[in-house]
Amino acid sequence: MLARQVKQFENAEEQRLLALAAAYGIEMSPEANHYTHLPISLLPTPFPAEQFNKLKDLSEEFNLLMYKVHLDREWLYKVLEDICREDDYIRRLVEISKTAHEIGNQQKIFLGLNRNDFMLDVPTNRFQQVEFNTMSASFGGLSSKLYKLHRLILSQYKSYFDPEVDPQKVLETHSMNRLAEGLATASNLYGNNVSVIFLVLPFEMNYFDQTCLEIELWETYSIPVIRATLSDVATHGHKREDGALIYKDKEISVVYFRAGYSPDHYPTESEWQARELIDTSKAVKCPNIDYHLAGSKKIQQELGKPEVLYKYVDPQIGVKLADHFTDLWGFDSPLSQELLAAIRSNPQDYVVKPQREGGGNNFYGEGVVKILENYENDQNIQEHMKQYILMKRINPEPKENLLSRKGVVNRVQTLSELGMFGVLVANGEEIVTNVYGGYLLRTKSKDANEGGVAAGYGVLDSIYLD
Ligand code: ADP
Ligand code: MG
Ligand code: MG
Repeated sequence: MLARQVKQFENAEEQRLLALAAAYGIEMSPEANHYTHLPISLLPTPFPAEQFNKLKDLSEEFNLLMYKVHLDREWLYKVLEDICREDDYIRRLVEISKTAHEIGNQQKIFLGLNRNDFMLDVPTNRFQQVEFNTMSASFGGLSSKLYKLHRLILSQYKSYFDPEVDPQKVLETHSMNRLAEGLATASNLYGNNVSVIFLVLPFEMNYFDQTCLEIELWETYSIPVIRATLSDVATHGHKREDGALIYKDKEISVVYFRAGYSPDHYPTESEWQARELIDTSKAVKCPNIDYHLAGSKKIQQELGKPEVLYKYVDPQIGVKLADHFTDLWGFDSPLSQELLAAIRSNPQDYVVKPQREGGGNNFYGEGVVKILENYENDQNIQEHMKQYILMKRINPEPKENLLSRKGVVNRVQTLSELGMFGVLVANGEEIVTNVYGGYLLRTKSKDANEGGVAAGYGVLDSIYLD
């Protein structure tokens, strides 16, 4: 690969490249007022154009599928029913959804900014879906900058590489523009003289990614952004008589959630009150609560069944989408003896997932065996397992790269996960926008189970389309 062609950048070269990364704005939140670049790869990762383009061609179909799924509320509630008994977080989200629909302030403007994640599986040679994120999908801002740095590196250090290497093959991504455009479209459909809220965490490691979108919204669309936490909304927000969301005297057109996707984001009742205030208001929510629920792992697992998938898409499209699904199982009825035996003999081939987001929640290998200990013999464990799903592990090919974190560069064997952004805006029955929204590549060391950049496991990367 490309890394093999570079023996090692000299230290001064590395420091120059990392300074360039910072100058492009590829930074993370300061620690003790000290700024540093975001963890990145110094080189892009090669992917075959054929497989990538095949997947890209399905972007709009995936967007539509998940849009239709979120409209099927009664089905969402039914599928999540068992989970609600075990999982208070999901139960409360379902309750808020029901309350919101009862109150009837439903906003007919829909804004979906999603990220559909895949790994290129070696045995099948296909991109297989890891998950579909309907909420807080991150790195749309910063990935739009990193491909430029990678092009610069391949151009300016040309003699380090095989003469065949072509910087233009570093695949561009305009996710920052597409996501901001989606936010602006929804905000403008709502009305004028309004502000957008970026609903954020009290401390956010990935601050700069959000700032990119904020600047784009302001510079291109003159839409001001207010950053607020759930607790800020609880203190300073209210609903006007007509249902409009008012925050510190400003009318809010869109609430863009970059927080609220995990139970930890609701340490007290006041965060839940803020969530309910937003969801029962007339503001456009990105995502609305039903789209949030549609992004659950349990829903992904149900969509793995052809008879469920075909409720929402024509079979000829459905077959193409399902080509990118790996094996998925629910725990609604007990797992077969055969499957349990397969898991115990090859636990590294399976992943168990709860209904959680943000990384670090899954079980792998021996962890899978442990959580299934005594599963067959204990009714309580069988009940408890209903909040999880079981998934076949996807196995991408390891590739060498130079990964940099906090100014230190390491040469490592890596695995990559591709995120395809999607933007869908609807106004009542009318689909206003439905587009591929650019991509994100996250790369991690081969030996790490997970690849979250913010969580400290992975780095931001870009694609060399070959
Ligand atoms: P989250 O919503 O927390 O990001 P994911 O389903 O994306 O949950 O899982 C987190 C990470 O775990 C992924 O980014 C990926 O690195 C790894 N992972 C999840 N599912 C699989 C799988 N089936 N095969 C291989 N790795 C997986
Ligand atoms: Mg997720
Ligand atoms: Mg994920």
